[in-house]
Amino acid sequence: MKILKLDDSDLKTLLARWYETRDLFSPVEKNGMAGWKRIEPLEFVEPAKGVPKTSLKTFFFPQPETLLEYSARPGDEGAYVPRPVKEKARERIILGVRPCDARSVLLNSLPFADDPYFKAKKDTTLIVGFTCKQPCSTCFCSWAGGSPMDTEGMDIAMTRVEGGYLADILTKKGEGLVDHLLDNREASPEEKEQLKTLREQAQGGTGSEGGPAEILKKKNLMDLYNAPFWQGLADSCINCGACTFLCPTCYCFDIQDETIKGKGRRIRYWDSCMFPLFTQHASGHNPRSQKVQRVRNRFMHKLKYFPERFGPLSCVGCGRCIRECPVNIDIREVMRDLLSIP
Ligand code: SF4
Ligand code: SF4
Repeated sequence: MKILKLDDSDLKTLLARWYETRDLFSPVEKNGMAGWKRIEPLEFVEPAKGVPKTSLKTFFFPQPETLLEYSARPGDEGAYVPRPVKEKARERIILGVRPCDARSVLLNSLPFADDPYFKAKKDTTLIVGFTCKQPCSTCFCSWAGGSPMDTEGMDIAMTRVEGGYLADILTKKGEGLVDHLLDNREASPEEKEQLKTLREQAQGGTGSEGGPAEILKKKNLMDLYNAPFWQGLADSCINCGACTFLCPTCYCFDIQDETIKGKGRRIRYWDSCMFPLFTQHASGHNPRSQKVQRVRNRFMHKLKYFPERFGPLSCVGCGRCIRECPVNIDIREVMRDLLSIP
């Protein structure tokens, strides 16, 4: 695939062109906090540093999501027989996605590999990412196997350079977005070398090789299952669930049937392993009735169970859980503590 050099007016022209046939979304800042919004081309502003408050999972795993519909009127033909929801599948482009969030979509594709709802949304979405120049104090993508210049999960990766952007075209879908520019905007060898150097600096500067992700994967965390430090964390945690709802890679859900005026819907809602009822069985038994069990499970899932099943950690180092936890529980400290216990 090619690397293009685009100036600011090229980007504006591209946005106008994309908008003719697709929906555009981007982080928009309001009251000092960025959130995702459907935009018109002229509204696009290069995102400020860091990640928006909410993650990209809202696009692929919305809250709530209707899975099936049915008539709940006994006299109707096909009453109580669920049928698929007919959705308008308009293609959309998400702009200004940071490397950690783009990578989170790939991680979520692992547990949702056979989920038709997730897959349908992924198939109609293109990601135009913007690499990071200035990570926030709570970012730690390189600890989690990524990098501020990472391009995994993006269709196009934009890197700000003097006079515009270097646009790395990474997929066939991405190529389709810029096909008319492929032959007249190719970056020069010097510009390509500049991008390579920026990537090497981002990788080398954050020391991801052999960092906590890899070291933690080699450590048998089951040896620490009964370590007293879990109780210390649980004493602070108030089980509010903010960390899991904001986390791009937390994907627990519940399914409920809801009937309003004879119309039934089967709905998928986000749930959280931090809530006491999450594991409550119909019998009344609850295998994680204690807070310490739930807190331990959150971290063990991210750092042990998910990597054991799929390979990578279930964390991209976006720092949202650190930023928003009301009692300042910091997953980086948890990782350090787990590494420091012999
Ligand atoms: S945000 Fe903090 S207090 Fe709330 S559940 Fe998560 S770790 Fe506990
Ligand atoms: S665990 Fe925290 S830092 Fe890691 S991906 Fe989730 S919100 Fe981001």
